[in-house]
Amino acid sequence: MIGQKRYDGLRALAAAAAGRSMLHVNATAYGGGVAEILQNLIPLLRDAGVDAHWAVLDAPAEFYEITKKIHNALQGMKLDLSEAEQKVFLDVARENAAQLRQADVVLAHDPQAVALRHFAGARGAGWVWRCHIDLTTAYEPVWSFLRPYVDEHDASIWTMPEFVRPGLRMRRVLIQAPTIDPFSVKNREMPLAEAHEVVRAFGVDLERPMLLQVSRFDPWKDPLGVIDAYRLAKKKVRDVQLVMIGSLADDDPEGQEYLDRTRKHAAGDPDVFLFTNLDGVKDREVNAFQRVSTVVIQKSLREGFGLVVAEALWKEIPVVAGKVGGIVIQIQDGISGYLVSSPAECAARTIDLLSDPALRKRMAAAGREHVRENFLITRDLRDQLELVANLASPARKS
Ligand code: UDP
Repeated sequence: MIGQKRYDGLRALAAAAAGRSMLHVNATAYGGGVAEILQNLIPLLRDAGVDAHWAVLDAPAEFYEITKKIHNALQGMKLDLSEAEQKVFLDVARENAAQLRQADVVLAHDPQAVALRHFAGARGAGWVWRCHIDLTTAYEPVWSFLRPYVDEHDASIWTMPEFVRPGLRMRRVLIQAPTIDPFSVKNREMPLAEAHEVVRAFGVDLERPMLLQVSRFDPWKDPLGVIDAYRLAKKKVRDVQLVMIGSLADDDPEGQEYLDRTRKHAAGDPDVFLFTNLDGVKDREVNAFQRVSTVVIQKSLREGFGLVVAEALWKEIPVVAGKVGGIVIQIQDGISGYLVSSPAECAARTIDLLSDPALRKRMAAAGREHVRENFLITRDLRDQLELVANLASPARKS
């Protein structure tokens, strides 16, 4: 899948990193892109000889209310953190830092884990912070609160150069976009007959065109805008259906509320289907739904990367997506999908695709090649091995 040369390069890096230990820390074991990445990356790192581990923060519900607020502020909302909220945030970091296992390299993901390094003390590890969020419109007071903790790391990883905040003090500022695992349950090949069988059980009519958005129920994913776009498209393509799948992630307290709002907005339309993990829509089902959809929508208003875009393109499904954040490095507008900035534009491009099978095929094929070149997990594995080889102190190699 990746060619002999890249495979040989991976082997050489694996030899340099073998025997060293690495610890990834994030906020949730389930739901959302970071958990998705770690679930696939940790076993691969272990196969490559790295003693890789994954720890999830242990925190009360109140912490996730605060970190969701931080997340929203970093995506541009004007939200201030009270002193009491800052204290809860830091107390959780202090308590979790005390429990962390020793590792040569620790990789803390996103704002939730950013202050661990501050409380972990000098333990000889290399510390990396990976930011999965688009910080270009971050609300400055909240970024200023986090920033000193970011600066304590030896390296940071960002999805796009545009996301990097100016004036970081660390020496290594790396650009690495997330990737998908083509062999995971979510992405591996699945015969179309099997996919049909899975989706039919949910009551969707496979004879009719289907639009799909797979996303947490979150204002930034614009589920209400997706329904508006679907309604506009339905004026032209009368038999189109819309499926929206959204897991309720452990670290996302807004999920249920936004699902309720979305359901209300759908107003009982029998051609709109809303499913969650609680309906039994897990990785295999997401795989099946993505494969049988006619067009995938990802109408985000902000997006760090948007793994779901790569997942759909890999399955050769054309994507219409918000012209924001990391989506723009996945879709070359008009070649491997369409980038849009409003429900009306989303509807227009969706209609173009629904009414032109040859266009769908052409775009989908270009999309798959773009993912193969840039966003397969072997690339992430290579970058991680490089990090381990470079950051772990030679003295610690066993
Ligand atoms: N996902 C899922 N079920 C859902 C919703 C999302 O499995 O109901 C997965 C989706 O397939 C993708 C990840 O969660 O792998 C979401 O990652 P993305 O980068 O698109 O968005 P994030 O949630 O990190 O903002």
